[in-house]
Amino acid sequence: MKENTNQNLPDIPQYLVKNYEDLIDKIKNYQNYDIANALKMLKDIYDFIDKFNKFVKTFTNCSRGCSVCCNFLVETTYLEAIYIAKKTGSSINPNNKNEKNAIILTSGNIYHPCPFLSKKKDCSIYSYRPFNCRVYHTGSNAILCHEPYKTHAVYGDASKNYGVSFFIDLHSIIEKLNTNLNGNISDLRWFFFTKDFKDYLANLNSKRKQEIDDLGQTAKSSLF
Ligand code: SF4
Repeated sequence: MKENTNQNLPDIPQYLVKNYEDLIDKIKNYQNYDIANALKMLKDIYDFIDKFNKFVKTFTNCSRGCSVCCNFLVETTYLEAIYIAKKTGSSINPNNKNEKNAIILTSGNIYHPCPFLSKKKDCSIYSYRPFNCRVYHTGSNAILCHEPYKTHAVYGDASKNYGVSFFIDLHSIIEKLNTNLNGNISDLRWFFFTKDFKDYLANLNSKRKQEIDDLGQTAKSSLF
């Protein structure tokens, strides 16, 4: 298997390759892609990523309580928003497909805390967090996460097509399930809209909006 071709990374262990093949077989055996099965498949994928992350921990510099990336854009599918809503009792914003705001939220990193980030800087929905939160790990000194304009090694960056085929394929499955439900993709903050975030958007001046747009164009992450 041609994974982790950079010599600085350990090979993906064979037991994870086997786990991945078992997962794909399991997904193929679902009889239909209705919402109930789509949510089960999503859970299967999350369970695999959680196992995979034990391997990722052997080379990432991410640590609990850092949470810098919880202030960045979190591209989320509607399917995942449903999963979070069902598991946590949170309500999905009925206006989550609002195009005008979607343009702001998808044009680059933003600096506003995720609504699920606790005051202690922990994820309050850790077991139910979206795919993109699960797979994003720094490979550089974590101090660089504070400086997104600088080149920064990232493992599992959605904006760079993830860098490992397991993640690419699994996210593609989630996207297909989401499309099957006519679901959209947006920032997590837009699905779970808070007054705090509404105020943040209302107070964005044109200079800050331009900075966000510029950051979307110029922020650089490099794969291992
Ligand atoms: S869902 Fe959790 S891990 Fe993801 S950005 Fe929000 S607080 Fe961070």
